[in-house]
Amino acid sequence: MIRPLLYLIKTYGCQMNVNDSEFISGQMEDMGYKMTSEINQADIIILNTCCVRKKVEHKIYSMAGKISQIKKEKPDLIFGICGCLAQKEKEHVHKKIPAVDLIFGPSQASSFKDILEHFLENKTRKAIIDCDNRKHFRLQNIPAKHRHPISSYVQIMKGCNNFCSYCIVPYTRGPEESRPTEEILSEIKKLVDYGYKEIFLLGQNVNSYGNGIEDHVNFLTLLSRINDIEGIERIRFTTSHPKDFNLDLIKVIKNGEKICEHIHLPIQSGSDKILKKMNRKYDMKQYYRIINHIKKYIPDASITTDAMVGFPGETEEDFQYTLQAFKNIRFDSAYTFIYSNREKTLASLFDKQTSLLTNKKRLWRLIDIQKDISTEKNKSIIGKTVEILVENKSKKGIEQQYWGKTRTNKVVVFSNQHNEYDSNEDLLGQLAYIKIQRADTYTMYGELVDVKIK
Ligand code: SAM
Ligand code: SF4
Repeated sequence: MIRPLLYLIKTYGCQMNVNDSEFISGQMEDMGYKMTSEINQADIIILNTCCVRKKVEHKIYSMAGKISQIKKEKPDLIFGICGCLAQKEKEHVHKKIPAVDLIFGPSQASSFKDILEHFLENKTRKAIIDCDNRKHFRLQNIPAKHRHPISSYVQIMKGCNNFCSYCIVPYTRGPEESRPTEEILSEIKKLVDYGYKEIFLLGQNVNSYGNGIEDHVNFLTLLSRINDIEGIERIRFTTSHPKDFNLDLIKVIKNGEKICEHIHLPIQSGSDKILKKMNRKYDMKQYYRIINHIKKYIPDASITTDAMVGFPGETEEDFQYTLQAFKNIRFDSAYTFIYSNREKTLASLFDKQTSLLTNKKRLWRLIDIQKDISTEKNKSIIGKTVEILVENKSKKGIEQQYWGKTRTNKVVVFSNQHNEYDSNEDLLGQLAYIKIQRADTYTMYGELVDVKIK
C-alpha cells in the first residue's frame, strides 16, 4: 500500500502563528497530506517562525540547519520557512539556508496551497519567495485544522499600526486590517456547529477592531454580536492595548454572559519615562485608572500582563516603578521578558545602558514577586468550587484525570475518581464544577463536584 504524503509543521511564537499554522495544516490536509511528528518521515517540513526576540531566531536557524542535513539524504523533501522571521529577512534566509524551497510571510499562510502547487508545477524546483505583507488577508473558506477540539482561535484582524518602539511586529505583519464582521460571525457559527464551545478572538490590538471598515462596527459591537450566538459557552480575546481600553469595554465584558472575566493588558513598564520612549501612548495614571475600573466593575476578573526589563535607558529607579506596579496591581500572572534589540525598530537606535547581567537580575526579581502573587492568588481559591470548561485529559495520562480552565483562565487539574461520573462518560467540552483542594503558582487541583451536561 502506498503511504500518504506526510507533513510536519513546527510553530514558534505567539497565538497568531499557531493560528496561521492551523490554516497551513488545513490546506495540506485538503491536498491529501497527513500530519506527522516524526521529522525523518516527513515529505514536507514547514518552520513557522517568530522574530520578536533574538533568542528564538538562533533556535530557528539551528533547526533549519538540521533539516538541511536531512534534505541532503532526502532531496525530494520540501522545506518551507514562513512567518515573521521569513518576512523580516527573506534574502538572508534564502542565502543562509540554500536547502529551503518555500519562503513566505504571515500574510501568505492562507494562500499556502497556491504557493505549494506553484512550486510542485515547476519542474526546476526553483525556490519560491512570497512575502508581501500588504496583501489583504482572506480567510473565508480556507480550511483550517484546529489544534484543539473545544476551543478555537478566530482571527479578527491582521497587522499592527502602533509601532511600539521596541517591536518588530508592524514590520513583519504589516499594516492593521480588520476582517469583515459578517465573515467573522459566519466562521464562529460554523465552529459552533462543529461543536466548539470556546471562541478565542485574535488580533495584535483587538480594541481597534473596526477601523477602516465601512459597517460602523467596533470591538464592542463585535463582542456583543458574538455573545448573542447560540451554542457558545465562552468568548476570550487577546491582545488589548491599554491606550484603547475603556470603561465601555469593561461594561460589555461585565454584561456579556459568555465573555470571560480575563483581561490581558500588557503594561510593558511601570515607568512613565520608559513608556514614553516605548511609544506606548499611555502613562501609569491611565493604566491605573483602567485597572481600578476593572476591579470596581468586575471584581472577580483576572488581569494578566506582559512586561519587559532592560529597555534602553531603564535605570534602577525605572525598574523599581515596574516592581511597584506589580506589587500594587497584583496581576494573576505575567509574561516577562528581557528587552531584545530588534533591527529596524526605533529603539534599536537608542543608547543601551544596562548589562545583560543586570537585566537578568531584574527579570528574576520581577519573576520572584509575580510568582509569590500568583501563588497567593491561586491558594486563596482553595476550598471554593469553580466552574471550568473541560479541555482535555491530563497530560500525564493518569486515569480519570482531566484539566480545564476557569473563566478567569486559570488551569485546573481534577480527578473524577470518587465520583458518580464513571470513566466512560466523556467530560470533554462540558462545564464542570471543581472543588479546589490545593494550588501552586501555575495550576490549581481539585475534585469533581458536578457537571452541567448540555
Ligand atoms: N500586540 C501585543 C501588545 O501590544 O502587547 C503583543 C505582541 S508582542 C508579540 C508580545 C509581547 O512581546 C509584548 O507584549 C512585549 O512584552 C514582548 N516584546 C515585543 N517586542 C519585544 C522586544 N523587542 N524585546 C522583548 N520583548 C518584546
Ligand atoms: Fe508590537 Fe505594540 Fe503592535 Fe503589540 S501594539 S504588536 S507590542 S507594535
